[in-house]
Amino acid sequence: MQRPLLRIILGFTAAAMLAAAVFFIARKPDNAVFPGISGPEASTTVSRNVPVEWKQYDHAAPGAMAILLTNPDSSWLGLAHGLKTIGVPFRITTDVKTALQHKVVMVYPTISGKVLNRESLQALAAFPREGGTLIGFDVAGGGLEPVFGFSETGSDRSRMALHIDTNQAVTAEFTDPRERIIPLNGSKRSGDDMGVVSYSQPRFPPLATYDNGAAAILHRAVGKGHAYAIGLDIGFFLLKGYNNRQQGIARSYVNDFEPALDVLLRLLRNIYRQGEPDAVTLGTVPQAKSLSVILTHDIDYTESVRNALVYAQHEKQSGISATHFIQTKYIRDWNDDVFFKPELVDTIDRIAALGMEIASHSVSHSRVFSKFELGSGREQYPQYQPFVRDAEHTENGTVLGELRVSRFLLGHLTKGGDPVSFRPGHLQNPFSLPQALEASGFRYSSSVTANTALTHLPFRLAYGRETKAQTAIYEFPITIEDEHKPKLGDRLPQALAVADRVSRYGGLYVVLIHPNVLDHKLDFQKRLVAALKNRAWFGSLRDFGAWWTARDQITWQVQYEGRRRTLLLESPQPISDLVLQLPKHYRLVKTTPETVTTPSAGSSLLISKITGPLKLEFETAGAAP
Ligand SMILES: [Zn+2]
Repeated sequence: MQRPLLRIILGFTAAAMLAAAVFFIARKPDNAVFPGISGPEASTTVSRNVPVEWKQYDHAAPGAMAILLTNPDSSWLGLAHGLKTIGVPFRITTDVKTALQHKVVMVYPTISGKVLNRESLQALAAFPREGGTLIGFDVAGGGLEPVFGFSETGSDRSRMALHIDTNQAVTAEFTDPRERIIPLNGSKRSGDDMGVVSYSQPRFPPLATYDNGAAAILHRAVGKGHAYAIGLDIGFFLLKGYNNRQQGIARSYVNDFEPALDVLLRLLRNIYRQGEPDAVTLGTVPQAKSLSVILTHDIDYTESVRNALVYAQHEKQSGISATHFIQTKYIRDWNDDVFFKPELVDTIDRIAALGMEIASHSVSHSRVFSKFELGSGREQYPQYQPFVRDAEHTENGTVLGELRVSRFLLGHLTKGGDPVSFRPGHLQNPFSLPQALEASGFRYSSSVTANTALTHLPFRLAYGRETKAQTAIYEFPITIEDEHKPKLGDRLPQALAVADRVSRYGGLYVVLIHPNVLDHKLDFQKRLVAALKNRAWFGSLRDFGAWWTARDQITWQVQYEGRRRTLLLESPQPISDLVLQLPKHYRLVKTTPETVTTPSAGSSLLISKITGPLKLEFETAGAAP
């Protein structure tokens, strides 16, 4: 028999254990935030990692650039996505004769006797002489040295930067100091440093050199033809940026100008325009404006919710739409209290009613989201219980849980519709994010900074942030944020200076303002919108993403007949306010079907609306080819 004291102690212990158990179960009642709600019903299946075939990019298109692919096991996908982004038409082929039917031929990733036979090498060697433009990557033998004008090829893994000579026609536009020098490797040496090729004894001043003075890009004019030898694997470099694997190459993290990839894409576009008299390229900004501005707000704090409505009211008054990323926080944890509640839903509905996009900012906003497991694809509210214990630990969180459940709650409970855009907390970027976004119904991501992506243009995301497979998700990186010092309200001039630099080539300008305060941040937004309103296009990520995705699917080709040119353009999705950049000697005669067109800067043409096929007929001032 137990003594009474022991019995009391045991009794207390049992009671304490029961209380503890009740407490742990009691974490669930937070879910009663929305009684009777559960979902999503359907499970999510992430597609397998299937490499994309280069043949998907083999569209016969007279007037396009040809990419003669000499090794399919290369980073050609980066090149394909990059050329899509900059709006250059191209076809990929492994057939030399097919390639040489085009006026501009890029041989990628290498030219050598190992990958091309003698006859092919001779045909390529003759091409510039016959008026074509030959762009060779990694020209490693094959007897083509004299064609490009150098003696020997060397390889090097320790180059830090590319210096561009702006005294040539195709580089003259790179007047910004950050455009003239492109960083290639981070200052910390690693086994992953990017290797490059240099060309010795150049016969002409190089178009670009490395930091040690060795020739990096050569240009030789041959009559009307051109030969360019490029020592840097631009496809590989593009994927480094697009996959957010730049490892210290970027010269800044955020709030600054980092155009490394953009310079290389613009250079390729200039070479294409120089070599193809019928070059037609797509503009990057809607409505022939010079900059695409997307205002975004991350709502991840109890106090932010009501303030977001004030930002939305300003946006509405300014005649623009913006994206409000909302954390669907239904669990109280280390981060904050529950704030995704019925009262919040009312506020979100008011924000949506003002024309704003309602997007997802995850469920848990974990600082270790990038380390989350992919998950089962069956995560549901309210059973899904990600619990942030502290900065380093989150329990029960999965990538698919964060995406599925936040999307379900916003789509099911608010009037904002099913979210299509996502931004993770703390820009935590799991390798599985692109394919997980695609599988769970999202379309647009804003998960990295422009500076660390090395670009101020949108781009398509690869599966697993790797190099072989693609997803249908597009990334729109963040340009300006509000957490770095000095406080946002004190750095409008710097932010506008970045806008000026990015707008020189039609870049993207995504602004992130946390509505935790109104004050100097709202004031910044008001002054920024006023300063950029006339020359920039403004819209939500959903609006711009839809426009960009439609643009990315457009195919076009030019047909010639004497001095007449017919541009056949096909847009699988309707698109408005698209700019075509045309050759200077084109004069528009007719469009079929009839469409409103407006000449704009340079020799560009703004097309008000395209639905399906569009035929544009031009007279040319110059001689027939
Ligand atoms: Zn956040």
